[in-house]
Amino acid sequence: QGIDDKMVNGHPAGLFVLFFTEMWERFSYYGMRALLTLFLISTIADGGWEWSNERAMKLYGAYTGFVYLTPLIGGMIADKLTGFKKAILIGALIMTLGHLSMAFEGVNSGFFFLGLLLMILGNGMFKPNISSMVGNLYPDKSAKKDAGYTIFYMGINAGSFLGMLLCGYIGEKIGWHYGFGLAGVFMFFGMLQFYFGQNIFGIIGDSPKAIQAHHDEKVKNHEEVDEVIPGNVVRDRLVVVTIFMLASVVFFLSFEQAGGSMSIFAKDYTQRLLSGDSAVAFKWIDTILTIVPIVIVTIVLTALARKIYKQYPLTILFTAISFGIIWCLGLWKVFREIGITGSEVGASWFQILNAFFIISLASSFSKFWEKVWNPSGPVKFALGLLLVGIGFAALAYGASDIPQGAKTASVSMIWLVIAYFFHSAGELCLSPVGLSYVSKLSPKKFLGLLFGCWFCASAIANFIGGFLGSYIDKITEEHSMSYFFMIFAIVPGVTALLLIAFNPILKKMMHGIN
Ligand code: GLN
Repeated sequence: QGIDDKMVNGHPAGLFVLFFTEMWERFSYYGMRALLTLFLISTIADGGWEWSNERAMKLYGAYTGFVYLTPLIGGMIADKLTGFKKAILIGALIMTLGHLSMAFEGVNSGFFFLGLLLMILGNGMFKPNISSMVGNLYPDKSAKKDAGYTIFYMGINAGSFLGMLLCGYIGEKIGWHYGFGLAGVFMFFGMLQFYFGQNIFGIIGDSPKAIQAHHDEKVKNHEEVDEVIPGNVVRDRLVVVTIFMLASVVFFLSFEQAGGSMSIFAKDYTQRLLSGDSAVAFKWIDTILTIVPIVIVTIVLTALARKIYKQYPLTILFTAISFGIIWCLGLWKVFREIGITGSEVGASWFQILNAFFIISLASSFSKFWEKVWNPSGPVKFALGLLLVGIGFAALAYGASDIPQGAKTASVSMIWLVIAYFFHSAGELCLSPVGLSYVSKLSPKKFLGLLFGCWFCASAIANFIGGFLGSYIDKITEEHSMSYFFMIFAIVPGVTALLLIAFNPILKKMMHGIN
C-alpha cells in the first residue's frame, strides 16, 4: 500500500509529521547554537569557559560548517542502505545523545566536544533525509510541492524561533546546562513523535531494497510504474541543480556571513541601550514579538495535530506536553522581563527577528507565487539574491556615517531590522524553493545524496564566510564597515543578473519542470 491518503488542508497528512519532527530538531539546533559562543566566552565565574572571541568564533564556524558537510554521507547511506525513515530516526537518536552529552559539560569538558561531534554526525543522517521525505509525499510533477516545502520551512523557523528565544534565555539567565538540556528534551520529543507517526508514510522512505521489491511486484502485476527518464534529460537537470547549488553558496555566504559581520555591527556600532520612552516602547515590541508568535504557533499546531493524529494518541500527548512546557517558559520569560526599566536590546534579538519574519511572511509568499506571479526557478533564485543584496546595501548606507577605523559608534538599529527583513524575504524566495527544485530535478535513486549536496553548499558558504570574516577588522580599518557590507551587496547582485540572463537556457534544461 502507498501513503495514507489522508489530506490536511490540501496537503498529505504526513507533511505535518515531518513538520513537527523538523520543528523540534531545529528548536534544539538553533537553541544550542544561540548558547554556544555565549557560553564559551563567558567568564569562569559565570559558568563559562572564558575563551577569547576569536577562538569561540572559530569553533562556532567549524561546527556550523561540519554540521552541513555530513549530510553528504547521511544522504548516501539512506539512498543505498537504510532508506529515509530509518536514517531520520538514527540521526535523531544520535543528536539526542549529543545534547545529553553537552548537558554534562560540567562533569568533564570532554562531554562538550563529544556532544558537538554527535550532533554533527546525527544531523548528517537527519537533515538531508527529512528534506527528501517532504518531496516524496507528493506525486511527481505535483504543483503542490513548492507550497509543501514552504510549509515545512515554516516548521523550521517556528522551531528556530522558539529555540533561540527559550534556550538562549534559560541558558543565559538560569544556567548553561539547563539551556543545553532543554534543547535535548525537545530533540527527544521530536524523535518520539516521528517514531509513533511513521506509519502514516506507508512505503515512502522505506529501505531501497523494500522499494525495489515493491516496484518489481508492480511490474509483475502489470501495474503502472514510474516512467523511465532518458539519460540526456537526467544530465541536463543535474546541471541545473548544480547551478542552483552554486547560487545558494553565494546566497548563504552573504546570509550567514551576515551572522558574523552583522552581529559585530549590532554589538559595537549600534545604539541599543534604551532608556525612558524608547525603553518602554521596546519592551512592548519585544513582548509582542514573544507572545504573538507563540500564540499563533500554538493554536495552528494544536489544531493541525488534532486533525492528523487522530489515530496516534501518543503523538498528541507529546505534542501537548511540549506546547505546555513551551507556554510556561514563554510566559515566565515575559513576566520576568516586564517591569525592568532601562533595557538593552541583545544582539541575539536580531537573529530571532529572521525567524519571526519568515514565519509571518511565508504564507504570503506562497500565495503570491500561486495567485499573482509564478516565475521560473532561476528567477526566484535571482530575486532571493537581489533581496539579500538590498539588505546589505541598506546596512552599507546605515554604516556610512561610522568614521573609518572607529571601534565603536552608535548608529540606529533600524538598519539592522531593515536588513533582516530583506534577508528573510530573500531567504523565502531561495531556500524553500531550492529544496523543492532539488526534489523535482534529482533522480529518485540519488535523492538523499543530492540533498546532501544542497546542504553542502551551506557548509562551503560557512567555511568561506569564516575565512572572510577573519578579515573584517582589517577591511574595516583600511576601508570602512560600509565598504565591507557593499561587497555583500554587489556579489549576490551580480550573481542574480547572471541567473536572469541564463534563465531561458536553464528553463529549457529543466525539461518541463517548473
Ligand atoms: N534555516 C534553514 C534551516 O535551518 C536553512 C539552512 C541552510 O540551508 N543553511 O534549515
